[in-house]
Amino acid sequence: MKRVIRLLISGCLLAWPVHGKQPVQAPVRKTCGSGIVLKLSSATASQGGLLLAEISGAKTSQEFTAEWDGRPIPVWRETPSSARLHALLGVDLEKPPGRYEWKISWSAADGKPLACSFPVTVRAGIFPIERLTVEEQFVHPDPEQQKRVEEDQKKMKAIYDTVTPEVLWKGKFVLPLKGVSTGRNFGRRRVLNGEARSPHTGVDFAATAGTPVYAAQSGRVVLAEDLYYSGNTVVIDHGYGIYTLYAHLSEIEAHTGDAVQTSAEIGKVGSTGRVTGPHLHWGLTIDHARVNALELVQRLP
Ligand SMILES: [Zn+2]
Repeated sequence: MKRVIRLLISGCLLAWPVHGKQPVQAPVRKTCGSGIVLKLSSATASQGGLLLAEISGAKTSQEFTAEWDGRPIPVWRETPSSARLHALLGVDLEKPPGRYEWKISWSAADGKPLACSFPVTVRAGIFPIERLTVEEQFVHPDPEQQKRVEEDQKKMKAIYDTVTPEVLWKGKFVLPLKGVSTGRNFGRRRVLNGEARSPHTGVDFAATAGTPVYAAQSGRVVLAEDLYYSGNTVVIDHGYGIYTLYAHLSEIEAHTGDAVQTSAEIGKVGSTGRVTGPHLHWGLTIDHARVNALELVQRLP
C-alpha cells in the first residue's frame, strides 16, 4: 500500500478553494408590472456564492414560479398571508462565469401571464490549488470500489433531486462545531498523485477526533451511513432544495427519517473515508448548486 503523506494541516479530499474574493454585494431592485417588486442581495456573485432573492407586492391569491439560469427553483411565501416571497439562488462552484437570469412568472388578475427578470453576473472564484499524495485506492478505485462510488453518487443524486416543498428550518443557520468561527478549503482545486480532480465542495473544520458535530439547522435526516469517499456521512434536508452534509464522522448519532433541531448532536468528528486526518467536512447544496456553507451562516437573515 502506498504511503500516505500526511499534511501538517489536515484536510479532506472530497475535492477543493478558499472562497475567492467576494464581489461588491449591493442590493438591487426592479419594479415589475402590477405592483410586483423584485429584490436581489446583489447583481453579481462569485462561483460557490449565494444570492438572496425576494418578491414583494404579491397578492395572497397569486402564485409565482421562478427560474434561475433556465431551471425551475422554489419560491416560498414568508407566511401564508404575506405579500412577500423568498428564494435562494445558489451559484455552483463550477458554474462558468458569465451573465445569467433570475426570472419569475405569475398571472395577472385577468389571467394574463406576466414575467419579470433580473440579470446576474457570475464571476470566477479565486481558488488555490493543492497537490497531495494519497492511497492509490482513493485515486483509482478498483472495480468493486468504483461500483460503490457509483451507488453512493446515485443515492446522493436521488436526495438532491428531491425538493421538499416545506420550510423545515427556523431562524439562523449555525456552524456545526462549537468554538469555531470559520472553516476553510471551500472550492480548492486538488491534484491527487499528479492528477487533477474535481474541486473541494465543502468547508473543512480542523478538530480532534470525537469532537461533537451539531446540525447547522433544523430539518430531516435523509442519509446517515458510510459512503466511500465521505466516510460516515449525515445529510439533512432543510426544505426547498436546501441540504447540509457532514462527512468523515467517527460516529453517526442520527438515523434516516429523524427530525432534528438546530444544534442537535448528530455525530462525532473522525477520519473515515478519503482524508488526510481528522476533521469535519461540511457541505451545502441548494437546488443542486454546491455553495459555500459559510455564506448561509453569514447571510441568511
Ligand atoms: Zn473537505
